[in-house]
Amino acid sequence: MKIAFIGLGNMGAPMARNLIKAGHSLNLVDLNKTVLAELEQLGGSISASAREAAQGAELVITMLPAAVHVRSVWLGEDGVLAGIGKGVPAVDCSTIDPQTARDVAAAAAKQGVAMADAPVSGGTGGATAGTLTFMVGATPELFATLQPVLAQMGRNIVHCGEVGTGQIAKICNNLLLAISMVGVSEAMALGDALGIDTGVLAGIINSSTGRCWSSEMYNPWPGIVETAPASRGYTGGFGAELMLKDLGLATEAARQAHQPVVLGAVAQQLYQAMSQRGEGGKDFSAIINSYRKPQ
Ligand code: NAD
Repeated sequence: MKIAFIGLGNMGAPMARNLIKAGHSLNLVDLNKTVLAELEQLGGSISASAREAAQGAELVITMLPAAVHVRSVWLGEDGVLAGIGKGVPAVDCSTIDPQTARDVAAAAAKQGVAMADAPVSGGTGGATAGTLTFMVGATPELFATLQPVLAQMGRNIVHCGEVGTGQIAKICNNLLLAISMVGVSEAMALGDALGIDTGVLAGIINSSTGRCWSSEMYNPWPGIVETAPASRGYTGGFGAELMLKDLGLATEAARQAHQPVVLGAVAQQLYQAMSQRGEGGKDFSAIINSYRKPQ
């Protein structure tokens, strides 16, 4: 299949690689010439603009940093909608606010293009291994069309509902993840300050009612989970700056819906302070350092 793929960053490049491996022919667009050259070597073709990439494509995929990029790449003069053919399926995999996802899909629908939102979880490791989870907001027909291609980049392809619901699923999950990581950090640091061995405490939590993914699989205390970023100086994993972005999306969506997100707002402020200290590049579990004396 001829696929236009726009946005070849930490996530988009490995996703595009998996599509090339699966035998698709890709029209590639990014601002970064190095990544374009690398993917061209694998068999992709470089396009000069999103409009040019979309011309003649049978599917358009974008994976961009934020809503402002999604709006310009889709709706701009040289954007996807200026080149895409009527009836060609389209999907944006960036993590953005649900309203922008709906607005861009509405603009696409006006010219006969069905568009989905399909943000992902699984990080760069999942993107490379082709094991991402896609949270898809689309009509049932469009979901059925996209499913086989998304399955070449991911393992769990979930239909969440109409367009926009993929983003809703993503931001609600990450809101809870941020809160649970802060909660585990608070408990682990308190236990240490009060004098219990942190390994014993983690073992108790993980066989008791406090257990959650943040305590069991990704414990923020160094040395509890060998494979967790905490055990390698909070490198790799999911950057605190990206978590801060997702918390911003969640609290803004909550404001628009007049819905309280009390703990989410506290977590957002903790991550904001972490970013201000210059630690936004560390894994998000380093939030535990807000509770510990400088090491
Ligand atoms: P990134 O910043 O590494 O990549 C974005 C790419 O988009 C860059 O290569 C950039 O050059 C390109 N770009 C920006 N504006 C462009 C334009 N106008 N035209 C063409 N290309 C343009 O970001 P990423 O880590 O790949 O993340 C992409 C999206 O996936 C984000 O919305 C992020 O929140 C989400 N996400 C990231 C992760 C992760 O672990 N990195 C996990 C899940 C979801």
